[in-house]
Amino acid sequence: IPPVLAVVGRPNVGKSTLVNRILGRREAVVEDVPGVTRDRVSYPAEWNGREFTMVDTGGWEQDAKGIHRRVAEQAEMAVDVADAVLFVVDATVGATATDEAVVRMLRRKKKPIILAANKIDDFHQEPEAAALWGLGLGTPYPVSAIHGRGTADLLDAVMEEL
Ligand code: GDP
Ligand code: MG
Repeated sequence: IPPVLAVVGRPNVGKSTLVNRILGRREAVVEDVPGVTRDRVSYPAEWNGREFTMVDTGGWEQDAKGIHRRVAEQAEMAVDVADAVLFVVDATVGATATDEAVVRMLRRKKKPIILAANKIDDFHQEPEAAALWGLGLGTPYPVSAIHGRGTADLLDAVMEEL
């Protein structure tokens, strides 16, 4: 059975865009409206000849209610069955209180975490990615899910944990 990578983070940070980038095709639903990926969706993926399963999730909201709460539960369940977690942050916004809440949830799970600093579309923005060292999760990998920038280095780091 291929190892499982859960892709988590608050709504609109670009999780589904990143999943599509890694798959090399548009399968995960991308929307400008936060929280569109309501359930866990699994996709078979491959990097450097190694197969793994990627689980795209909806966002995880602090004090989530109703549909948001369900989304949060789905994200947590995805983490529970994962071998490693790809935590996606919008580096152009920086770490928000919701991101910090996700980090606390992730720490409890004691799974390997790879931090993707997304929306670094150009090298001038790299200091914004470096600011995410402050989350205490180790190296923030600057990526642009839209342009594909940095995703090879990110996937190499992911495969070391899977
Ligand atoms: P999700 O809710 O975390 O799954 O986020 P989506 O993948 O649906 O993306 C939310 C929005 O962010 C969409 O408008 C995407 O086009 C945009 N987006 C995603 N990745 C990037 C990126 O690398 N750079 C920029 N500039 N926008 C991005
Ligand atoms: Mg999504």
